[in-house]
Amino acid sequence: LAGPVLEALQHADVAALLPRPAGESDKYRRGVIGVVAGSRRYPGAAVLAVSGALRGAAGGVRYVGPVGDAVLARHPETMVSSGSPHQAGRVQAWAVGPGLGDGADARAAVAEVLASDVPVLVDADGLRLMDPETVRGRTAPTLLTPHAGEAAALLGWAREDVEARRLTAVRTLAERLRVTVLLKGSTTLIADPDPDVPVRANPTGVSWLATAGSGDVLSGITGSLLAGSLPTRDAASCGAYLHGLAARVARGPLSALDVADAVPEAWRSVY
Ligand code: AMP
Ligand code: MG
Repeated sequence: LAGPVLEALQHADVAALLPRPAGESDKYRRGVIGVVAGSRRYPGAAVLAVSGALRGAAGGVRYVGPVGDAVLARHPETMVSSGSPHQAGRVQAWAVGPGLGDGADARAAVAEVLASDVPVLVDADGLRLMDPETVRGRTAPTLLTPHAGEAAALLGWAREDVEARRLTAVRTLAERLRVTVLLKGSTTLIADPDPDVPVRANPTGVSWLATAGSGDVLSGITGSLLAGSLPTRDAASCGAYLHGLAARVARGPLSALDVADAVPEAWRSVY
């Protein structure tokens, strides 16, 4: 290998990467993110993913799924539709997966999004519903955001083996599926499909993030950065960085929505 295998993400890197809307910007030029998440059984995941998406770089959030009423009750800013993703109108990136469950409609929505030509982030249930061969064959950018258990299922490894060899696990998955992989954990790692690109390690995580739904918020933030035109590896890096900083800003026992609410202050502390 020519360069370092691992690099720590620095504050200055993130400050340079985070977009600032131009003076003449409008919501469409900033980018629209489509969120496919939630189910009748898990409506909260949709609310959490949207709450993150509203605090990323995108100028608008479209929610596509069966629990639009729950999303609107908390986030009236959202454009909501209940049909399938291709009926929702143009988006610049998709975030799919949190709380989708196992239904046929959810599986079809994941397949439809993966067939699109825009960047796609896949998390949570989406990682089980997706067809790995389709993922590998995509030409537009793809970002998977598994925790150790989800990465283990994709690799066919035991979860303990992923936890014991996190760097190898994240690189193997990225290389096998030819996608960017963000492996969540106390130190989140981000691997590029090109094995010569160093894996990035995010230093901002705090253990208060070990709370239900915090991963769904990360999906929204990071998908929103993708919609705002950040390159995949940079969107993943900045998403993890801001998510950790937001938890530090919120300090102490926090809910996943507290993390989302603290993201604007995290941005301010980076600028
Ligand atoms: P999920 O497993 O999908 O709910 O995502 C949990 C989120 O919390 C991820 O962003 C993890 O990186 C983060 N997280 C979980 N446990 C810890 C921990 N002990 N320290 C720092 N971050 C954590
Ligand atoms: Mg999760």
